[in-house]
Amino acid sequence: MQALEFWSLGFTPLPISAITGTGTGELLDMVCSELKKFEGLEGLDDVEEDENRVPAISIVGRPNVGKSSILNALVGEDRTIVSPVSGTTRDAIDTELTTVDGQKYKLIDTAGIRRRAAVASAGSTTETLSVKRAFSAIRRSDVVALVIEAMACVSEQDYKIAERIEKEGKACVIVVNKWDTIPNKNNESTTHYEQDVREKLRVLDWAPIVYCSAINGNSVEKIISAASLVEKERSRRLGTSILNQVVREAVAFKAPPRTRGGKKEAVFITQHR
Ligand code: GDP
Repeated sequence: MQALEFWSLGFTPLPISAITGTGTGELLDMVCSELKKFEGLEGLDDVEEDENRVPAISIVGRPNVGKSSILNALVGEDRTIVSPVSGTTRDAIDTELTTVDGQKYKLIDTAGIRRRAAVASAGSTTETLSVKRAFSAIRRSDVVALVIEAMACVSEQDYKIAERIEKEGKACVIVVNKWDTIPNKNNESTTHYEQDVREKLRVLDWAPIVYCSAINGNSVEKIISAASLVEKERSRRLGTSILNQVVREAVAFKAPPRTRGGKKEAVFITQHR
């Protein structure tokens, strides 16, 4: 095709000659000015994980589900004396936990909330206040361990917390505590139980479920291994080419709707840090 034909089609070509070099300077200028738009994005595919970053895990749930007991089983009773993390808030106490393989986590405890909430309660119920405090802990976390009580299963408050976790884009582990209180468990009843939890917590259908008994420490450590897995998954960087391929395929499958401003088109996608 000749340059003129492009013009006739409504395009504005940049005529160059590789042999004589005509127009190549202009071409380079244009490429550089386009690249400037993505300044700061270069090399994002190879962003190194910040090894000093300590992921924060919050333990949230309704009063009495066993949040304190879980924390005690994980880090011991003297946690606030042994390893207080600076910058703790009045709403939640942060504790540092180091796993056997040396990975550090910051645990955000919301367990003390109940007692303060009971005192502060004026017009609001303790449960409502505890949900509000759970929201602020969720905001500060990378991973949320949403604790529900085995016998009570999922309540309205649990659902509100679950919705918030999903909305804030946090990683999550659903923890069914007091598993010891469910009598005559077998594979079939456990599958039924899980289906019930999945049905009631649809917004978190991607979150792993851990069954534990904080009272005797049974399976409590699984909360941390599951949290570690979901945290890695959440902080995983997707290569720009994969992202663009996925978006191209999605758009080919279903084009974005036309708006008043015309058709929207994705030009270039990259995952920001
Ligand atoms: P929190 O308000 O969520 O921090 O709940 P706590 O940790 O204070 O626990 C509330 C009550 O549940 C306490 O009496 C605990 O002993 C009891 N509890 C906690 N975990 C378990 C468990 O796994 N099994 C049973 N049977 N009781 C538990």
